[in-house]
Amino acid sequence: MEENISKPIISYKDVDIVYGGNLVLSDVTFDIRKGEFVYLIGKVGSGKTSIIRSVTGEIPIRKGEASVGNFNLRKLKNRQIPFLRRMIGVVFQDFQLLMDRSVYDNLLFVLKATGWKDKREIRDRIDSVLSAVGMQLKSHKMPYQLSGGEQQRVAIARALLNGPEIILADEPTGNLDTEATENIMELLTGIHDKKDSPAIIMVTHERQLLQKHPFRTLMCENGECRELPADEDFRLDLINLM
Ligand code: ADP
Repeated sequence: MEENISKPIISYKDVDIVYGGNLVLSDVTFDIRKGEFVYLIGKVGSGKTSIIRSVTGEIPIRKGEASVGNFNLRKLKNRQIPFLRRMIGVVFQDFQLLMDRSVYDNLLFVLKATGWKDKREIRDRIDSVLSAVGMQLKSHKMPYQLSGGEQQRVAIARALLNGPEIILADEPTGNLDTEATENIMELLTGIHDKKDSPAIIMVTHERQLLQKHPFRTLMCENGECRELPADEDFRLDLINLM
């Protein structure tokens, strides 16, 4: 799709990411625009999740310049964090659905927690996100009655509920078999292909995804996060080091 060439939705310049008193990454610099699909790769412990947690405001930023939408992460106040998070849909490796309630009630829980009141609007929104992920016929099911791939579809529907400008997906296919992985990739790239799609940042370990669905790639390594060049041979050499 045509990228939005206006202001980046996420902009980091010379950012240090410090977690638990340790400098995890230094001088992190990247811009991501609405509608872009970007992979975040790197070995275990290289700082990928720390970047994701800094974008959501869980890890404060003390050095450099960092913004998400109109929020300056260097000056983020606690009271602003819920509004920042409302711009962001998060998808986890282990789905993180509430196991004691149905698919519908998982989504209802999020809408109520984010201030939705009108019953009809709530029902329409849940129907709309469930049909966007092909799960509209399973809204009454409990999460444990679904396969891993189906649970991840529900988690993606949940991420879409408030029309996010950014989706952060932290190893969303890490617990899935090859077929379910491909289905989830098709779902995410299908969301990316739609008009006015959110920016999607996807953490992954899976080299074959980067080959089959090539997108911009940021790699964390040796305390740095850098962009891999678009040149394919070079990319594959580096990816082989993952
Ligand atoms: P990745 O997602 O690439 O596996 P992380 O961002 O989870 O990497 O971890 C980066 C670094 O931060 C690691 O060195 C790890 O030891 C450290 N770290 C991870 N979680 C915590 C935590 N809860 N408290 C302190 N340090 C942590």
